[in-house]
Amino acid sequence: MILVLFGPPGAGKGTQGARIADAVGIPNVSTGAIFRGLAAAGTEVGTQALGYMKRGELVPDQIVVDLVKERIAQPDCEKGFLLDGFPRTIAQAEILDTMLADLGLGIDAVLNFDVAEDLLIERLSGRRTCITCGATYHVVAVPPKVDGTCDACGADLVQRPDDMPESIRTRLREYAAKTEPVLGYYGAKGSLKNIEAIGSPEDVFASVTAVVQSLD
Ligand code: AMP
Repeated sequence: MILVLFGPPGAGKGTQGARIADAVGIPNVSTGAIFRGLAAAGTEVGTQALGYMKRGELVPDQIVVDLVKERIAQPDCEKGFLLDGFPRTIAQAEILDTMLADLGLGIDAVLNFDVAEDLLIERLSGRRTCITCGATYHVVAVPPKVDGTCDACGADLVQRPDDMPESIRTRLREYAAKTEPVLGYYGAKGSLKNIEAIGSPEDVFASVTAVVQSLD
């Protein structure tokens, strides 16, 4: 199964992506998480991407596409995968289609997480992320058991540089200008499934599960 998680920053793609991947038994390919890992490891691509990410801008298409191509060619993606945060431009969507067609594959569904902008800002500004395992929390909605400490691995929780107010504004602008038009692209292909991504993570997961089960 090949699934695409689509939606603005703060829509809950990361949280749901991990759960869906687990439930379906496919790897969760998050381009943002891969870039953060490469940046933390000090690689050239990671360092290159970090500047764009900190400002809340999109990383250039070619860099992202090369990375995805390499990732989905790995053996664990043979039985399918979930893409979280890719594609984010029409050019990326077109290249992905060609890439998959060359492999005799296609997207089963694009799950579009729909959330109002004021709620996105509230979610992003209150988000805290584990520096080691990447688990996410929210200062009000999903607080850790011990303030500033990850429940899962005990490492420190930090605010991502791109979750600062100026970067949040840029990310939402980038989404509206470059990413939202991709909805039209998938809408025309008939693969788009809308998910009302409000309520608790459990509520959203129940909606996602219903959609994924309907694909079988
Ligand atoms: P995310 O973790 O999905 O919110 O992504 C964090 C940041 O990584 C984004 O704000 C972009 O700077 C970069 N990024 C992740 N995926 C892509 C993509 N498909 N195209 C361009 N930039 C991306």
